[in-house]
Amino acid sequence: MENRALNVVPFVSVDHMMTLVLHVGMERFLVELAEYIEEDFRRWPVFDKTPRVASHSSNGVIELMPTSDGELYGFKYVNGHPLNTRSGRQTVTAFGVLADVGSGYPMLLTEMTILTALRTAAMSALAAMHLAPAGARCMAIIGNGAQSEFQAMAFKALLGIDRLRLFDIDASASRRCAANLGAYGFDIAICRSPQEAIEGAQVITTVTADKQHATILTDNMVGAGVHINAVGGDCPGKTELHRDILMRAEIFVEYPPQTRIEGEIQQLAADHPVTELWQVISGLTAGRRDERQITVFDSVGFAIEDFSALRYVRDKIRSTDFYDRLDLLADPDEPRDLFGMLLRHAAKHSAA
Ligand code: NAD
Repeated sequence: MENRALNVVPFVSVDHMMTLVLHVGMERFLVELAEYIEEDFRRWPVFDKTPRVASHSSNGVIELMPTSDGELYGFKYVNGHPLNTRSGRQTVTAFGVLADVGSGYPMLLTEMTILTALRTAAMSALAAMHLAPAGARCMAIIGNGAQSEFQAMAFKALLGIDRLRLFDIDASASRRCAANLGAYGFDIAICRSPQEAIEGAQVITTVTADKQHATILTDNMVGAGVHINAVGGDCPGKTELHRDILMRAEIFVEYPPQTRIEGEIQQLAADHPVTELWQVISGLTAGRRDERQITVFDSVGFAIEDFSALRYVRDKIRSTDFYDRLDLLADPDEPRDLFGMLLRHAAKHSAA
């Protein structure tokens, strides 16, 4: 049937994504998204897994992140260009597709810039539920750009974090972050150094953007019992923590073959022990073991988290009209008559 209105693919624009997030409620969205990620991490072995395919350039990286559970297939296109903000562009933009493995047909096309910020934050908070010291209330956030407020909101929603200590080399970024979070009940301090920011914090989130081996935290800054949520180092040659911190910490990762290329642990020997988060989330191994332990979530972002986010959006838009109907699938009356469909289209247009 050449009635393409019946063969449309739902498309969630940036505008519709924002409407969806506000409709669901930011905190509920983050909690439910973390539940979807948790569900998929618990069935980790069923997924096709591969380190993401990265195309590097002097200014940044463009990456493709595919995975499948045998029934659904998902991928995300995402970039990381730290210099972009200077010309009014985002450091990270993304879009993604969910498809039916049985037919290979796409089922959803969606913006994933906002969704990536939400899923990264949900993943960080989910990891911290297993790794942060019990009763943690105070978090330092170093790097107060696009991801930062989402991190704060996820830690509030999932862990009850209600005190924030902000630092950014650009003080205006911290002021904006504090203003954006003003209505959410946080006690917020803007700090003048990373050292000041981590004072009294049980959780330290590093989420800076710089294409170099930066040292956002040095070894002497990190005391016993802290959980470090290291989000910004996610590319070869782009790290945030001094190597000596890693040597004292227990390190938790998403997918080791990808994290060894992209994460903080690129600074360590290829056989340095790490714990896979899916095993912690599944209850197969422990998260935090004692009060004095330093834990690091060496976050780089893995395809299964995006797959979970795509599934979540597919389910949430079902009973709404928060999407457009995209004419993406050619569908001739007779499947092999693709050429004929073109001829019929030409005839229709010449008659009009
Ligand atoms: P952004 O450019 O919007 O913000 C980055 C902020 O870091 C800026 O405000 C900048 O001034 C600050 N900064 C840079 N160097 C700093 C330093 N030495 N000390 C303190 N602040 C510093 O970027 P974003 O979208 O917020 O992303 C932040 C980082 O997180 C990027 O590196 C991005 O690639 C990474 N990221 C990781 C994941 C993941 O899953 N792990 C997901 C999304 C983004």
